[in-house]
Amino acid sequence: MALYMVKERLKTFENCKWPFDDKAPCSVQKVAEAGFYYVNGTEDTTVCVVCQKELEGWEEGDSPLKEHQKHSPDCPFLTIADPYKLSLRQVISLETYALECIKKRKMANTKEKMMKNVEHLLEVFDKHMPTK
Ligand SMILES: [Zn+2]
Repeated sequence: MALYMVKERLKTFENCKWPFDDKAPCSVQKVAEAGFYYVNGTEDTTVCVVCQKELEGWEEGDSPLKEHQKHSPDCPFLTIADPYKLSLRQVISLETYALECIKKRKMANTKEKMMKNVEHLLEVFDKHMPTK
């Protein structure tokens, strides 16, 4: 899982016109160190490689790590002392958590889609069934 490495997350920002320079608290480097990679084609949407939390609308003075903590306090990435030195054991444990989050996310999406279908069906049904 390459994206567990800061260097690889940094690469995802290569084609992005990140609005802040390297000296800003919210630089690309800091965002990548805080666990986020960039979602290609978006303005500044980033996703945590572990908890899959999406964050966007970054501000120059934001601390990416603090934002991560604020929006996803249970993310195990936040317990890592040095994002540049992950042990294999840590990667495996992060990956286990990540898979769980991806699964939950997919299930929530599927449920939402199903609910929309049901609502649509009910609308169609209402329209075409004669009411007495
Ligand atoms: Zn996270």
